[in-house]
Amino acid sequence: MTAKRIILVEDNEANRLIFKDLLELEGFEVTSLNKAEDALPIAREIKPNLILMDIQLPGLDGLTATRILREDPITLTIPIVAVTSYAMPGDRERALVAGCTGYITKPIRVDSFREEIQRCIDVKTSEPKVQPPESERIIENQS
Ligand code: MN
Repeated sequence: MTAKRIILVEDNEANRLIFKDLLELEGFEVTSLNKAEDALPIAREIKPNLILMDIQLPGLDGLTATRILREDPITLTIPIVAVTSYAMPGDRERALVAGCTGYITKPIRVDSFREEIQRCIDVKTSEPKVQPPESERIIENQS
């Protein structure tokens, strides 16, 4: 069986090396990138088992990149785990609404990092895990 593949997008070099090491220790084949712009075409090409996406990036940010990946039929179902530092209340919900499958805060804890990757890697659908606001649900039901 071939190794499961992960695309890692992280602009901070130290974090990128740590995350890559941790993922490789778990047996994943890792493609590490420092820009979300590069992740979009590579995700379409290699269709990884998961994308680990830093949210704060120069240029295209991680949430916008996630929305683009979710609009593309080729990348629609790839699990995406958001990684954010200085997490504020509501950040997790914003990530899930944007289409992220999971959420990790920096500085990471190794155990929870591993658990979140393992939890998300086999998620078949990448539908947001939170319900849309009630007002939107009512409009949906009436159409
Ligand atoms: Mn960053």
